[in-house]
Amino acid sequence: MSPLPYGRGSDRTKTLPAPGLIFRRYADSLKPMAAGKNILVVEDETDLAELIDYNLTREGYACRCVGDGAAALEEARRRPPDLIILDRMLPRFSGDELIARWRNDAATAAVPIIMLTARAEESDELVGFALGADDYITKPFSMKLLLARVAAVLRRGRTGATDADSITVGPVTLDRSRHEVRVHDIPVSLTSTEFKLLKTLMASNGRVLTRDHLIDAVLGHGVAVVDRTIDVHVAALRKKLGEASSWVHTVRGAGYTFREPVAGDA
Ligand code: CA
Repeated sequence: MSPLPYGRGSDRTKTLPAPGLIFRRYADSLKPMAAGKNILVVEDETDLAELIDYNLTREGYACRCVGDGAAALEEARRRPPDLIILDRMLPRFSGDELIARWRNDAATAAVPIIMLTARAEESDELVGFALGADDYITKPFSMKLLLARVAAVLRRGRTGATDADSITVGPVTLDRSRHEVRVHDIPVSLTSTEFKLLKTLMASNGRVLTRDHLIDAVLGHGVAVVDRTIDVHVAALRKKLGEASSWVHTVRGAGYTFREPVAGDA
């Protein structure tokens, strides 16, 4: 196995440490959460990529680093990772373009993505979110924060597994085959549109879904409705969810998401 190219396409070509070294660090500190989880890091700042690689590897993750968008596409396709950490500003393909491509590819559509953004891009963060990032971190950030977010996104990915008949997120359990919804184990009666809406939101693993996406998923493709239609259904759904209504978040300028409410939420 040859070391992966680093910063390919730039003049800062470096290679990762020899595989043996990575393995030793991995074996030294194997942690159950991280064990066997494969993370693809896409970052063209070599120093930062090395720091991320070092910390993830020490935590027990198996880490691959690439330095530009084309190499990222190639690596993700060669072996789809469990999580992608993606810098937004990259040579060749931007982070936004990569997300759009990965979300449209069955092999990578369900892979969670954490996006790294620069402070100056903060106003655009919601755009990245709407395109399908699962979380974002603003540079500069501490490795402790990064590791916490990685663990949280991986955990969320696992609980939100969508194959099962029944999914539970926080206080809400939704049973697809029985068409049944419970909040704190108390049945809630929903219309078929509200049920589809909740199912779509719960299955998105905390990702922000645009109104267009929700209209397609809930009302069907090509249905001519105004955005406001979805807002009306969301309002009705929130009302019926009662105590759990705070799990349905409006993301201004982007759409809706279903996740745990945190301090500071509107
Ligand atoms: Ca960059």
